Amino acid sequence: MTALKATGLVRNWIAGESCAAAGDPYFVKRSPIDGRELYRVSRSTADDVNAAVTAARQAQPHWAATPAVRRGAILHDIAMLLRARREEIARCVHLETGKSLKDALGETDAAVAQGLFMAGEGQRLYGRTTTSAAPNKYASTVREPMGVAGLIIAANTPIANVAWKVFPALICGNAAVLKAAEDTPLTAYLFAELTREAGLPAGVLNVVQGYGAEAGEPLVLHSDVAVLSFTGSTAVGRRIAELAGKRLAKVSLELGGKNPLVVCDDADLGQAVKWTLLSAFSNAGQRCAAASRIIVFDDVYTIFREKLLDAVARLRVGPNDDDDFGPVINERQLNNLLSAVQHAVQQGALVSAGGMRLPGSAHQAGYYLAPTVIEQVRVDDEISLNELFGPITCLYRARDFSDALAQANASPYGLTACIHTGNLHRALEFVHKVQAGVAVVNGGTYGSEPHMPFGGAKQSGNGSREPGTEALDIYSNIKDIYLNVDPARI
Ligand code: NAD
Repeated sequence: MTALKATGLVRNWIAGESCAAAGDPYFVKRSPIDGRELYRVSRSTADDVNAAVTAARQAQPHWAATPAVRRGAILHDIAMLLRARREEIARCVHLETGKSLKDALGETDAAVAQGLFMAGEGQRLYGRTTTSAAPNKYASTVREPMGVAGLIIAANTPIANVAWKVFPALICGNAAVLKAAEDTPLTAYLFAELTREAGLPAGVLNVVQGYGAEAGEPLVLHSDVAVLSFTGSTAVGRRIAELAGKRLAKVSLELGGKNPLVVCDDADLGQAVKWTLLSAFSNAGQRCAAASRIIVFDDVYTIFREKLLDAVARLRVGPNDDDDFGPVINERQLNNLLSAVQHAVQQGALVSAGGMRLPGSAHQAGYYLAPTVIEQVRVDDEISLNELFGPITCLYRARDFSDALAQANASPYGLTACIHTGNLHRALEFVHKVQAGVAVVNGGTYGSEPHMPFGGAKQSGNGSREPGTEALDIYSNIKDIYLNVDPARI
């Protein structure tokens, strides 16, 4: 923070020190709330990534040799310091994303919970003890660190995204290089600074700022990076898998979603509207798990639609605690959303609410999109197939349960899904047959718990799960150990 105050530049964090990118190039970070310049950010390239990977490689053996229980104790101290600094971190999340301080505090608390869960894994980190086909022989497995982990994250929930990657990578005994999201550089930097204060040895966590192509790709390509974990769009995930695949690096991909929320004719419509609003619009719809396809039974379509549009008209958009959601992350993303709506209209869609940038003195300088509801679209229209990542949702009619399920599954994505119904049989059939990594009954499409494995099917990922104990599989090598205790008798 001191470095930022002195220079107005958010820098890299390498080997426990703040440092600018080689040659001192930078880009400008703007406030999503009013477009003003907040600060400059180091624009790193392959040289900086190389320095960060070298620092990680040097620090990793000692960290790996530190007993896992002790590693957990240090991660626990980091989580506790994060909790003590929750106001400062949340203010930074608010500044960088424009979401309300209340939401930023909630996100910071979720990051603390993630840290505490993973710190406890230091006391478990289980392998397996199993049987052997031979007498006098013991068979077991242990987890070993991979080496250096390359972590690349999105900006939507910046401190939670940092926590989801860094804590599991470190508890497994890896050192890490985190490529921060270009829209939320300071959150990642402050976290790194805090880890030093909590006692994490220098070089175990390094942060590199910069753009994806310039700073992310060199990390993906670096031969000393043993495992890559990426949270971001499906298009970039595919590119990363391609590049990392050439050198057979292990890759975990947490990608996009186009998540369905089904409203049956026996649903509690008040609850269905409440959860649709939260799932579609909270965090300005910038959630991989946002509900962007609301599939409603014909019999209740008109009444649900009226209730929903009425509630949407009452949503408050702004950066304050009494607002329902804030701006989107940057002007480019706002323009992408506006073009997607325009394109859908050209293809015959009806914009029933929003569809425009919010005018007026409180909004016009920021990146605010009015909450947008779209109707009269088909399941195979572009707007139904592509993730938009903003406060936009589409309504679809379904004849009955099987039609609703078929529409829910008619997507290239398979991250989360939800059904609202009072019928146990429908609920169970839906959770078993919907093609998604997460299935919810009578709730929202978003939200996850630190001890539960989150991730998607189809184009929403490559099958890995973060967090939960399943995240440990990403960051460990499993080694088989056979002990022949009486070789003469085998
Ligand atoms: P993005 O894919 O554009 O960028 C994500 C990160 O990847 C950024 O740090 C970016 O700099 C980096 N990057 C971009 N190009 C790269 C390249 N060629 N090589 C290496 N790194 C590169 O995504 P975004 O717009 O910032 O974030 C939104 C996306 O993230 C949405 O698709 C959303 O669904 C997804 N997301 C998924 C999850 C999940 O858990 N499944 C969670 C949050 C967000």
